[in-house]
Amino acid sequence: MPAAPETALRIALPVPLPQAFDYLPPAGGDAGPDWVGCRVRVPFGRGDGEQVGVVVGLAAAVPGLKQATARLDAMPLLQGELFASLRWAAGYWQAPLGEMLATALPGPLRAGQPLPESCAHGWTATAAGRALLGEGGGRPGKPRELLRALAAGAIDEDRLDLDQPGWRTPMRRLSERGLAERIALGPPAPRPAPPGPVLLPGQQAALAALAQGEGFRPLLLEGVTGSGKTEVYLQAIAEHALAAGRQALVLVPEIGLTPQLLDRFRRRLGVPVLAMHSGLPDGERARAWAAMARGDGRVLVGTRSAVFCPLPEAGLIVVDEEHDASYKQQDGVRYHARDLAVVRARALAVPVVLGSATPALETLHNALAGRYRHVRLDRRAGAAKPPRVRVVDLRKRQLQHGLSEELLTAVGDCLARGEQALVFRNRRGYAPVLICHDCGWSATCRRCDAAMTVHVGGRRLICHHCGARATPPNACPDCASLGLMPQGAGTERIEQALAERFPEALLVRVDRETTRGRDAIERHLARLGDQPGILVGTQMLAKGHDLPRLTLVAVVGVDEGLFSADFRAGEKLAQLLIQVSGRAGRADLPGEVVLQTHHPDHPLLNTLLAGGYPAVAALELAQREAAGFPPYAFLALLRVEAPTVDAVDAFLEDAKAACTGHDTVRRNGPMPAPMARRAGRSRGQLLLAADRRPELHAALDAWLPVWRGLRSARRVRWAVDVDPVDL
Ligand code: ADP
Ligand code: ZN
Ligand code: ZN
Repeated sequence: MPAAPETALRIALPVPLPQAFDYLPPAGGDAGPDWVGCRVRVPFGRGDGEQVGVVVGLAAAVPGLKQATARLDAMPLLQGELFASLRWAAGYWQAPLGEMLATALPGPLRAGQPLPESCAHGWTATAAGRALLGEGGGRPGKPRELLRALAAGAIDEDRLDLDQPGWRTPMRRLSERGLAERIALGPPAPRPAPPGPVLLPGQQAALAALAQGEGFRPLLLEGVTGSGKTEVYLQAIAEHALAAGRQALVLVPEIGLTPQLLDRFRRRLGVPVLAMHSGLPDGERARAWAAMARGDGRVLVGTRSAVFCPLPEAGLIVVDEEHDASYKQQDGVRYHARDLAVVRARALAVPVVLGSATPALETLHNALAGRYRHVRLDRRAGAAKPPRVRVVDLRKRQLQHGLSEELLTAVGDCLARGEQALVFRNRRGYAPVLICHDCGWSATCRRCDAAMTVHVGGRRLICHHCGARATPPNACPDCASLGLMPQGAGTERIEQALAERFPEALLVRVDRETTRGRDAIERHLARLGDQPGILVGTQMLAKGHDLPRLTLVAVVGVDEGLFSADFRAGEKLAQLLIQVSGRAGRADLPGEVVLQTHHPDHPLLNTLLAGGYPAVAALELAQREAAGFPPYAFLALLRVEAPTVDAVDAFLEDAKAACTGHDTVRRNGPMPAPMARRAGRSRGQLLLAADRRPELHAALDAWLPVWRGLRSARRVRWAVDVDPVDL
């Protein structure tokens, strides 16, 4: 009988428990340092439940340990800098290590599948497919169109993404019928990269700042849309990554990763550029991850979760639109991709570029304090002038479905010039609320502390927080009046109003109702093309896709952002206004922005108009310093929810009572969450604040274990949100 092993594997599992678990190695295996970073399959929980975990260390074997079922990697999947950064991230964002590691892995790897091949793939017609083409190619439609495209030879998947949006479903149909097949492509022949434009002085200064010195070099590159930031990224990638035989990681916001952007990178860099975003099939994400891990991939452009890619030969990290809210993961493991990118750049000793027209105040503060270099690109490249901004005072004006006559005239003039207008309203639906004109009753959600939004011209009520639907009552439930009316205007109502006013105009609405699926925005914008027309839309249109004929941006609903309780509201509103305004105008087509407001004298608007974003940032930073908010203080939010308010309150009281010691950490609350009931659950919170980050983290490290052990914790769901972005 073989001797019992003396060494056990310490394994982090994707379960919401803080500790790692010890297992004996699978039969025939000896635990040793070569296991660390490898995935293993282990029995876990009741019955024949299994989990895939990552070996994070070794431990002395004790009697009674279960045995792991299988080792899944011969070589460590997680190692070096990435492994260390993930451990740091788990500690910083207070997540169980196993959950953080699972978050970092693409789905197939998390599920225990082997690391996929990393070469590029393409599609080709099979013999049967070519035979069918000879007979005309079958019934007309997308599959036939694709098959015809394949007639000339294999097409790689990157190319298909560009030329045949939405190709995956019809291609699957072809493949099921045996007409087309997926093939591995060898390494592509390197293409000569066309030279970029001669750089402007600001762009040169940015590149010089990156080239100066060694190791970790954070740079804040501040410049409006069109000022040439992407050009700086491209040249920096060429210089610090490609020419040096190294890899580059470029993070972009969720809606910034357009086929246009990928195409620009691919054409200019002359090397394969890998993409990683939520619209890609899981297998593709895993392939990109694998390609970077093996060093086969040189450049990866991706959204938030791409920050977890291995970079064994890192040369440069870029975070575009670094202020963008989509970098913060808001549920599950709550990490911030920009912050992790900076931490990784430091660990990798490489430069990191944070680009934005409207830097986050945290980032700006780091630059002002001298921790980051700071280069401003002042002008739009290619000689475009900044747009002219006009404020329309709405007080005592007649409005048509929320639109002023000035705004409508500006839209009409724009159409008459043969150009395109964007009417921006960050609220979808017909109207934000249905009210009774006689008694003031309003339609609210039964499960949330929120108004129901009126949709389809008043025929449906939808809660935007829990998805609940209802039919609007015919009469007021309180006073039986028939005077129920939709109050305010969302994108749907605005679209209708514009259609009435401009019956001939091409109108395209882009919001979550009209735009489902990855290619939907492209299809909408393709329908508009270069023709004169009007776009109506939400945040989805604030950036991304190039719109060269767009000269007028009209913003409706500015006022909601002016009076929000959120201490970041001013920063967010200024960022949004600058972002969407940046869409107006080109070198040969001057742009115009129209802002409708009932508060033309509001300090935030005045500061923004007079001094631009830097002035707003200075104002907001001064207020944050006075009020003790980030970046001058560090916050963590204990978020709690439960079916009853009693359970929430009981846990929060206990949790606060357990906050002993660490007197420099301020405890605010317990208090109800801004939306105290959501989807039928009560929500409350406790806000912790400290002037120094290590003090906050020391307190969290001490208190979290105590909170976990509280009896009242069993009746609630709770989570700690470090550096919360919405309170
Ligand atoms: P951003 O990323 O800041 O929005 P881009 O890098 O996309 O700006 O540049 C905006 C436009 O100006 C692009 O069409 C780009 O090709 C052009 N451009 C950028 N830099 C230069 C330059 N130095 N000379 C001429 N054109 C430039
Ligand atoms: Zn009423
Ligand atoms: Zn609801």
